[in-house]
Amino acid sequence: MTKNNFQFLDVGRVDPKKLEAKERVKGFGEIYGSFDADSSAEQADRCLECGNPYCEWKCPVHNYIPNWLKLVSEGNLAQAAELSHQTNTLPEICGRVCPQDRLCEGACTLNDGFGAVTIGSVEKYIADTALAEGWRPDLSHVVPTGKRVAVIGAGPAGLGCADVLVRNGVKPVVYDRYPEIGGLLTFGIPEFKLEKEVVKRRREVLEGMGVEFVLNTDIGKDIPFQQLLDEYDAVFLGMGTYTYMKGGFPGEDMQGVHEALPYLVANNKHLLDLPTEGYISLEGKNVVVLGGGDTAMDCNRTAIRQGANSVTCAYRRDEENMPGSRREVNNAREEGVQFLWNRQPIEIVGENNQVTGVKVVTTALGEPDERGRRRPEPVPGSEEIIPADAVVIAFGFRPSPAPWFAEFGVNIDEGGRVVAPAEAQPAYQTSNPKIFAGGDMVRGSDLVVTAVWEGRQAAEGILDYLEV
Ligand code: FAD
Ligand code: SF4
Repeated sequence: MTKNNFQFLDVGRVDPKKLEAKERVKGFGEIYGSFDADSSAEQADRCLECGNPYCEWKCPVHNYIPNWLKLVSEGNLAQAAELSHQTNTLPEICGRVCPQDRLCEGACTLNDGFGAVTIGSVEKYIADTALAEGWRPDLSHVVPTGKRVAVIGAGPAGLGCADVLVRNGVKPVVYDRYPEIGGLLTFGIPEFKLEKEVVKRRREVLEGMGVEFVLNTDIGKDIPFQQLLDEYDAVFLGMGTYTYMKGGFPGEDMQGVHEALPYLVANNKHLLDLPTEGYISLEGKNVVVLGGGDTAMDCNRTAIRQGANSVTCAYRRDEENMPGSRREVNNAREEGVQFLWNRQPIEIVGENNQVTGVKVVTTALGEPDERGRRRPEPVPGSEEIIPADAVVIAFGFRPSPAPWFAEFGVNIDEGGRVVAPAEAQPAYQTSNPKIFAGGDMVRGSDLVVTAVWEGRQAAEGILDYLEV
């Protein structure tokens, strides 16, 4: 039957159901529901099958989006799962956490008044349903090469690298200092965006493919790096960025002032029943979160779920110029977070070393900076104090290069990022030919999907290096 290309005129964009805000703040579970076979087929059928699919180019892993949408609309789930796994190691996770409005869906031709195709939700449906029904990647044709590669870091970059290696007959052994795989997927991103059972299932899938995990093992402490260099044919570094950015204003060390990532990590470990030091509950507190990115939104919404009395998020630019995803700001607002735009913190104030508020100054937006975002400029005489008995600082992360990099000839740039260019020959090779790197530690804090892409591309580089 010929496809009706004007189907989108009759069938509008429909997202999976979202829990009401008053229900979702009662717990940490995911807030979005899932499509079923009929709704995913109906939504997938809205795709125009553009000759030059912009969505595919805007997706950092260049998923074959129109092709798997077509397979879903025809009810061919297994083939859709096979195809989506050819380009993405973590499709069910990217379907949940990618900022689709800035990526694939933002580039959809229908995102022009008709409503973009719900690409992320269909991608999540494909992998979730196929895996639940027992579908697994077929590696029966893979011929072992006898080569072995050590991967440091079981985050998206490390997992992306291991996936491509194992599909090409190279044995990956993935080391991580944490007790579970996933990196920030498990320990940073809160459950309401990504339930940890989803990451655990992906671990089982990867193990089934032949990826080996060695957890609770800190390379450089528990095992010397030299040992990995001696025992393996190549090493991939996917160690993330973990240096907390300070505000540089007085009062940051006062009691009641918390860093975003340790706060979120401890909360995730607490929910996973893992041993944790430093768990912080903000129950009953008047909380001020400083920052406007996704980490700030995660802190806002975690504090709400912990039973904070009030949560106010202060950001130095306006809503239009904030870095976080619009979807997450809306979710935070629905859940009761108050936003104060154009407020720059200049001091944390307190009594007896205990925080009582944040002094902010109002800003006006000036000329765009090098990234195109308008610079905030303080308005003289506009200081005010926002009362608070807890403050969470979420200004982002800088790279945290290991002290042993220099000893092994791994160069870093002036910002601390490992130098491993995409255009190197082989791709993502560091200044030590046997060592490759990718993800946040190379590009700086970014996204799950860009880390997956770099891990996968670095694996291609390793295959070239190993000549297999
Ligand atoms: P990581 O995920 O950081 O993984 C690095 C791993 O290396 C860790 O498991 C670490 O334990 C391990 N490691 C480091 N050093 C060693 C060592 N010496 N020995 C052994 N193991 C080591 N992105 C999105 O796309 N969508 C979102 O909604 C989103 N939300 C986020 C929310 C928060 C709070 C944060 C902090 C980030 C968020 N991100 C989001 C960004 C995303 O999580 C990261 O860009 C991505 O996880 C980077 O992947 P990676 O593999 O490079 O590093
Ligand atoms: Fe969109 Fe992310 Fe999936 Fe690519 S990986 S299709 S950007 S949701």
